[in-house]
Amino acid sequence: MDREHLDAAIVARGRQFFEAIGDEAPSVFKKDWWTGKVMAACMENEQFKVQLFRFIDVLPYLTTAESLGRHMQEYFGREQAVPAALRWGVKGVGLGGRLAVKVLGAVIRKNLHMMARTFIAGETVPETVRRLAALRGQGFGFTLDLLGEATVSEREADAYAGGYLAMLDGLEQAQPDWPAIGGAGGDLDWGHAPRVNVSVKPSALYSQADPAEFDGSAAGILERLRPIYRKVVGLGGYLCIDMEMRRLKNVTLEVFRRLRSEPEFRAYPHLGLAVQVYLRETDGDLERLLAWARTEGLPITVRLVKGAYWDYETVIAAQKGLPVPVYTVKAETDAAFERSAEVILRNQDICHLACASHNVRSVSAVLETARALDVPEDRYEFQVLYGMAEPFRKALLKTVGRVRLYCPFGEMLPGMAYLMRRLLENTSNESFLRQEFVEGVEASRLLESPAAALARTAGACGDGPATTAGAAAGPAGEEAGGLGPFGNHPFPDWTLAPQRAAYRGALEEVRRHLGRTYPLFIGGKDVTTGEVADSVNPARPDEVIGRVCQAGTDEVASAVAAAREALPAWRDTPPRERAAYLVRAAGAARRRMMELAAWQTLEAGKQWDEAYLDVGEAIDFLDYYARQMVRLGEPTPMGCVAGEVNEHFYQPKGVAAVIAPWNFPLAISCGMCAAAIVAGNCVVYKPSGQTPVIGHTLSQLFREAGLPAGVFNCTPGRGAVIGDFVVEHPAVSLIAFTGSMEVGLRILEKAGRTPPAQAAVKKVIAEMGGKNAIVIDDDADLDEAVPAVIHSAFGYQGQKCSACSRAIVVAPLYERFVERLVEAARSVRIGPAEDPANHMGPVIDASAQKKILEYVALAEREGTVVYRSDVPAGGYYVPLTVVTGITPAHRLAQEEVFGPVLAVMKAKDFGEALAWANATRFALTGGVFSRSPDHLQRCRREFRVGNLYLNRGCTGALVGRQPFGGFRMSGVGTKAGGPDYLLHFMDPRVVTENTMRRGFVPMAEGEAAAV
Ligand SMILES: Cc1cc2nc3c(=O)[nH]c(=O)nc-3n(C[C@H](O)[C@H](O)[C@H](O)COP(=O)(O)OP(=O)(O)OC[C@H]3O[C@@H](n4cnc5c(N)ncnc54)[C@H](O)[C@@H]3O)c2cc1C
Repeated sequence: MDREHLDAAIVARGRQFFEAIGDEAPSVFKKDWWTGKVMAACMENEQFKVQLFRFIDVLPYLTTAESLGRHMQEYFGREQAVPAALRWGVKGVGLGGRLAVKVLGAVIRKNLHMMARTFIAGETVPETVRRLAALRGQGFGFTLDLLGEATVSEREADAYAGGYLAMLDGLEQAQPDWPAIGGAGGDLDWGHAPRVNVSVKPSALYSQADPAEFDGSAAGILERLRPIYRKVVGLGGYLCIDMEMRRLKNVTLEVFRRLRSEPEFRAYPHLGLAVQVYLRETDGDLERLLAWARTEGLPITVRLVKGAYWDYETVIAAQKGLPVPVYTVKAETDAAFERSAEVILRNQDICHLACASHNVRSVSAVLETARALDVPEDRYEFQVLYGMAEPFRKALLKTVGRVRLYCPFGEMLPGMAYLMRRLLENTSNESFLRQEFVEGVEASRLLESPAAALARTAGACGDGPATTAGAAAGPAGEEAGGLGPFGNHPFPDWTLAPQRAAYRGALEEVRRHLGRTYPLFIGGKDVTTGEVADSVNPARPDEVIGRVCQAGTDEVASAVAAAREALPAWRDTPPRERAAYLVRAAGAARRRMMELAAWQTLEAGKQWDEAYLDVGEAIDFLDYYARQMVRLGEPTPMGCVAGEVNEHFYQPKGVAAVIAPWNFPLAISCGMCAAAIVAGNCVVYKPSGQTPVIGHTLSQLFREAGLPAGVFNCTPGRGAVIGDFVVEHPAVSLIAFTGSMEVGLRILEKAGRTPPAQAAVKKVIAEMGGKNAIVIDDDADLDEAVPAVIHSAFGYQGQKCSACSRAIVVAPLYERFVERLVEAARSVRIGPAEDPANHMGPVIDASAQKKILEYVALAEREGTVVYRSDVPAGGYYVPLTVVTGITPAHRLAQEEVFGPVLAVMKAKDFGEALAWANATRFALTGGVFSRSPDHLQRCRREFRVGNLYLNRGCTGALVGRQPFGGFRMSGVGTKAGGPDYLLHFMDPRVVTENTMRRGFVPMAEGEAAAV
């Protein structure tokens, strides 16, 4: 193929399209209508666009005149301030007051409904079928897509699948009346394409789909997809599997391969899937897919799209510290589209191409490449979205004939998310439609080849290599040779088969090392003791994870002595050098990432994600505190007075006892120890009795970092034997504790007594419990709120101090929330954490199990248990429990359970919900789901907790981003992973020198500069 010649043909073809389009604008841009005016206002004013899109998002929930009026005011200001575009068509404005708001609200709702109708083919099956018949009459084929809420439960997935089957019934009845399009005769459009064509979103078919559980997710989706496809096949129809977020991309590819090759369907050719070219991985995916089709001898169809989730993918990657998976320069995506289209066209014998784009250049490129390659016309077609680019679709129909419209149908409430995506697409700066129909960019520029566009913009945008976005630019660890800016450890990416295999491999490897005996570590040496305690797998208590030597008071006394001995030299080690040890320990942890996480899965019952993120957090603490200490290690000059020099600096407190919990067995242990050590203290560390083997891994990390003997000592042992002893030891000047309120208060009390031999007032850093609430406002987005509450309440079995144990729901949304929550809870699978199919595992031990079961019994007495799951046999399992009818007076609203028991409370209004949220002794975390700007603002002030999360779950604080810790009975107000944390481990000092000698004052630097 002569590229130059091809490009000229593409440009010529594009010009023909532009001529055919003429001055006609798509309906969304027509300025003589409400939609066009509003869209124009959006493109002129970014702030208005944001507010409008948020308003559209919440609109379906605003069912009363009061809430509609309130939200309009909150989003756009007082009635008179509502932008003219929105007020257009409103008669009687100027009435003032509530009547005007009511009128305005009603008109805006009606107009937005009409706007949505631009993109949605119908709300019911009969209405949609009528619309499809009309479109077919104009010569357009269709593919039908059922709009749906995000499916948060298996029941919702059933309903979604049922919706498809009902729709197919409607199409079955209508189909015989539809003559085939294209005049080729027979039943097939254009002589080759089924008349019935549907598109399905795989994520909606299985609520528990999770990339970590690859096989099970594919199987779960297929279970509901199979009956739909069977029906499609029965109708002689076609089914396309849509592509959604990247997290399910590989699972979706697998679903396609399995369905296509199943014996029942192998002989039926009409199955396709969408492939998104904006993903950098797509070249490889496509190559493998085509190779697979060839090997299997199975013809397939690919709908080639650029990808509809660009903003989401870039933002999520940045938040998780992962490489951005999509191209970041628009021309790269355009180039990928042309490249992939050519690959498919060259494989036309095995792969039919559906070119899905509104971009005249992209479509022209496909058309001309197909012609240059002599691809038969029945091997490719063109698709556009219903309601978008109507003038182009008409021109396309006239030129190539084979045009299919992607027609969503269904209720408006679920349709709003779809509407938002389309509006974003239409109004984004990069959108071809905007550039063509609004900005009036010249045809020559619009038809420019992506390669030329890339070359032109290379200087401005760079060449778009795979980047890790934003602040989470990855830690500059020891490998980077120094302390660069801090970045959180990246999240795991279970979409990658090697990562999943590595985790399974790590679990197997760790299993090979079970049952070993672990010594104490004192003064740089291993120390064994006669008493040994077994640590077991909570999912299989007969499986011994390790046998751990137990420290008695003698061993703790020697550890304190070793720490004292090491203190002077360690205290005087320059802060930068101390920080370097932490960075080395972080490097060691990074190298053992999967193995360290696997220990947690087996010893603590942590799911893959939870375990991996715990190790990631430990690494973050090491990296973060190292950098904080370098900052704090520099003395700060104070004041600016001639003849006097003041220096403010810190020194460590001395010997620190670190008493750690089992629920974040590496992260919290590591955080407290690392902070103490880097600040110059020497540590006696007592890991939790439930997770001492993980405690030992921390010892290994510090050993590998090469800490001098005595700086870190590890003394596992029973709290009853050594707890008070270490707290009361006169040589201990600092106690860092995380755990229950009872133990924390006891430590505070013991540490407050000062025996004569004690040289310093003890400092206690205590992180204690929580009774955390998530408030669900009456306008909350339940698609988001329900999964967030499920995750916050039941993630790691609810055994996090940050866990949500109260959901306080504002009355109008209460029934709907509870219904969806209970179904979502019912969908959670429970079993050993090593199987990623299980999203809930065992609790830590028999005594936790007993205590939680008592609370479950209390729930039966205090409220109505609306869901109580079954539990697997063996293991320390407790039922996932949801109880309603709880008020602040109940114990379940006040006491920390530390297990998967969620109290749901019904508040009459937002004010009451907020008051209830604050009505406990604790103040650790809290959450609010609301789309009212005023309510969100009010929460910032009045929801008094250490960590408040707006419109997200209340767990998962990240080092350096959400410094973590509460106050009141939740702790003493320190913030782990924040800029102030290290200050608690040090004493500040100030040295003042009088620099005047006999009336002579040395010239200060500042003054010298001024002379
Ligand atoms: C019939 C049909 C079916 C579809 N099905 C799906 C589907 O299953 N899954 C899906 O994800 N999408 C689907 N889409 C949407 C599609 O992915 C595009 O979002 C949409 O068509 C816009 O692309 P365009 O070529 O029409 O317009 P253009 O304006 O040329 O391209 C816009 C696209 O470019 C990409 N982009 C934007 N900014 C940048 C940037 N800075 N750097 C790199 N790339 C950028 C994005 O993908 C964006 O959507 C479908 C579209 C159609 C027409």
